[in-house]
Amino acid sequence: DSVANQIAAGEVVQRPASAVKELLENSIDAGADHITLIIKDAGKTLMQVIDNGTGMSETDARMAFERHATSKIQKAEDIFAIHTKGFRGEALASIAAVAQVELKTKKEDEELGVMLRVEGSKVMEQEYCNTKRGTQLEVKNLFFNIPARRNFLKSNNVELRHIIDEFERVALAHPDIHFSFVNNGNELFDLPAAGLRQRIVNIFGSKFNEKLVPVDEETPILKLTGFICKPEFSKKTRGEQFFFANNRYIRNNYLHRAVCNAFEGLLTEGSHPSYFLFMDIDPAKIDVNIHPTKTEIKFEDERSIFTIIRTAVKHALGQYNI
Ligand code: ADP
Ligand code: MG
Repeated sequence: DSVANQIAAGEVVQRPASAVKELLENSIDAGADHITLIIKDAGKTLMQVIDNGTGMSETDARMAFERHATSKIQKAEDIFAIHTKGFRGEALASIAAVAQVELKTKKEDEELGVMLRVEGSKVMEQEYCNTKRGTQLEVKNLFFNIPARRNFLKSNNVELRHIIDEFERVALAHPDIHFSFVNNGNELFDLPAAGLRQRIVNIFGSKFNEKLVPVDEETPILKLTGFICKPEFSKKTRGEQFFFANNRYIRNNYLHRAVCNAFEGLLTEGSHPSYFLFMDIDPAKIDVNIHPTKTEIKFEDERSIFTIIRTAVKHALGQYNI
């Protein structure tokens, strides 16, 4: 039932950026330490991810495109408690329902790899191939079989911006992985494995070397680490604002306000702080009633988290003034 597949796919794959996110996360789950993202036309005609992770056996490769085929866990009660990014086995099935996909993959101990071509959920071709250990996934012509969705995509500038946003979030959460990103033949990023500070500098520019102030606070409820930018570097534009909970990028306006609140009196009128904050928190304290592909999350005890974050950022700001 390709219609049902296409509808389900729409939930996971809204635009090229959502497919890119899923592919990058699969490579991370596969233990890759070098991941290359290649796109054309803001992902509309091509999105390719190449990794040096574990690769897949022939059976795994075929299974990967089945809905609810995940090798990761059986039931996910709480996505913030699990270590792998994926867990529902929907991403590849969804992407393959609405695009032309080619997979090449090989495990370390196998002589030959396997190539699989899937189009609109149908396996078109399968053969053995020579390839390196790891996985290459090529996604061509997203929404080729749903013209209405294809026409609904925004301009290349807008779609590329979304992809860069996803790429930056993933790259910040995994500074120990080497990421490369090529768009229309131009290298947009080449980020060798590094620590978080160096990763920020490599993504956003060497001017960040002087801007960053470390945040490091541990309470019984949560641990907060990362960096804020010194107030004199705050911007009129929204700036770089990144929050991660248990290493997943999240968006939460209340916590954003906690950071802004700590900067109060230090910023000039109408400017915004930049920050890269990582929160480690007991997953039981995160509202589990959330869609895994969404980035908005809620906390059980938002008020105390607000206070802890504000205090941590104030400490960081105070320390750097001494
Ligand atoms: P999930 O990540 O939720 O398990 P996906 O649809 O994203 O589901 O992937 C399905 C399965 O395909 C994964 O569980 C994994 O076994 C396999 N897989 C996907 N991408 C890769 C990759 N880059 N390297 C190795 N295995 C992969
Ligand atoms: Mg996945």
